[in-house]
Amino acid sequence: DNPKLLLPRIVKDGLFVYIKPDLHDMAKSELLAVSPAAMRDLGLNMSEKEREEFKEFAVGNRVFETESYPWAALYGGWQFGDWAGQLGDGRAISVFEGTNPSTGVRYEVQLKGAGRTPFSRFADGRAVLRSSIREFLVSEALNSLSIPTTRALCLSYFTNEKVLRERIEPRAIVVRMAESWLRIGSFDIHRIRQQRKLLITLADYCIEDVFGGVEMIRNEAKKSGYGDAYEGLNPYRTLFKEVVRRTAETTALWQVFGFMNGVLNTDNTSVLGLSMDFGPFSFMDTYDPSFTPNHDDHFLRYSYRNTPTIMWWNLVRLGEDLAELFAVDDPAYLATDEYLSSGIPESKFEDFVSKAEEIIKDEGEFYKSVFEKQYAAGFARRLGLTVVKDTDSNGIIDSALELMKAHKLDFHRFFRRLGDVNLFGADKITVDGIAALFLTGERGIGVPSAEDSAESIYEWLIEKYRARLEEESSTDDEARKTRMNKVNPNFVLRNWILEEVIERVEKRGDRNVLDHVLHLALSPFEDEWTVDKESERYQDEKRFTGDVPIEGQGIMCSCSS
Ligand code: AMP
Ligand code: MG
Ligand code: MG
Repeated sequence: DNPKLLLPRIVKDGLFVYIKPDLHDMAKSELLAVSPAAMRDLGLNMSEKEREEFKEFAVGNRVFETESYPWAALYGGWQFGDWAGQLGDGRAISVFEGTNPSTGVRYEVQLKGAGRTPFSRFADGRAVLRSSIREFLVSEALNSLSIPTTRALCLSYFTNEKVLRERIEPRAIVVRMAESWLRIGSFDIHRIRQQRKLLITLADYCIEDVFGGVEMIRNEAKKSGYGDAYEGLNPYRTLFKEVVRRTAETTALWQVFGFMNGVLNTDNTSVLGLSMDFGPFSFMDTYDPSFTPNHDDHFLRYSYRNTPTIMWWNLVRLGEDLAELFAVDDPAYLATDEYLSSGIPESKFEDFVSKAEEIIKDEGEFYKSVFEKQYAAGFARRLGLTVVKDTDSNGIIDSALELMKAHKLDFHRFFRRLGDVNLFGADKITVDGIAALFLTGERGIGVPSAEDSAESIYEWLIEKYRARLEEESSTDDEARKTRMNKVNPNFVLRNWILEEVIERVEKRGDRNVLDHVLHLALSPFEDEWTVDKESERYQDEKRFTGDVPIEGQGIMCSCSS
């Protein structure tokens, strides 16, 4: 309640700040959409009365009475390669943590856009409807594709309030949740400030409280087949390795599903390997590895192609943050006043540096191997393969990507349609049948002619794809199609769709479209969702799963939101 504490300021000697959401004049807010999937995963078992209360909470009209008081977290970050100083939860406030009793998963629930915090810097702590719709939908879309991500519970907006950005826009709030909102930037800030005690406190909290302890981390790694790599490591090295592993897995999945965050700064890089902080993100339309969805990303730092490298760059920052903790020769030294005030002594510095470098280098190898394994496995699944061969990455996968690139094929339709191709049984594909499956959209400028593309696709299908399928234990077309339709979404939350949703909600007050798209995003693998062909819902579904209009391809966004 002390207004001075609200002022943007440098927060020292702490990891977070207690702060009340600033909701005094926001009585007129309306719930626009709720994700039943996220509500189910949160696992709140609510009575009718509590449901009403939750609605009030979701639109920002009340604060839950829990044991905890709302808080905003401190973090810093490396943005576009440079140290950006203190950042922190400038427009997100954590309101409570809750454990789903049936899954045991604990979530930290936040209001995004609930007003200023000490970390708001020059900005207002508010969120606009446009970016809130994007975050709400993409969180749930990624989750439906089994890509680790933070989640969105609901979206509401204020009928009596606008926010000034490039233009005047409606104000909104997203209620979002994650098992933890810790980022690499949460660690960066303490290293840069040389606040060793805080860094240790944070690392210990992360190991014990977020990951559930070293044993738990090892068990998780074992499940993924990496248990051996964790044997005998000290807790901080274990932490580092676990973040490396999770990041490598998620980054590979982003590549497999053509997802680009667009601003992979360390303040937007989850310690849990979650997709998070959605700004100018995009799913790939026509395949172009140098595409970046971020309008301000002039050096293509956050392009599709550079994503795996940049994520490793971010992990090296975390390695530097934790280096003293995992590379010190005597762990007991970390508890001494001498260490806490001055770090590694000069006499031992050289040894420390070479040991730290060695460890980070080793983890680089680990990152690469985890990434490559998940990358190959993910693309193999999308191609309908049941076994992954060592030769697949440089073989069938590369050749498929090359084909898509050369002929500017749609990344997602390519995989979905591939499932429809018969190569062994009845109704075998012919060159004439190619166009109807792969080349239905408007062809852009500089793209090979439809005839040339059809020839090349056919050649690839016969010489590469069929040849590879022949190495499988079964070549049954139908069985492959069934497999492929479970991993290749029919609906993808592309930027052109988001633009239309935003426009229809903002300008026409159309709520239905949000409901339609959320529904598609939550079950993206269906062939059809709605029976009634006359309904608006059906029309939306058809268009949103059809060709990307030429003017809607490769839409970029700016960072500001
Ligand atoms: P982002 O570019 O969204 O990753 O945000 C970078 C930093 O700016 C984070 O610390 C955000 O909390 C902060 N920030 C972004 N937009 C706002 C806003 N409207 N009000 C306050 N802080 C913001
Ligand atoms: Mg961010
Ligand atoms: Mg953000």
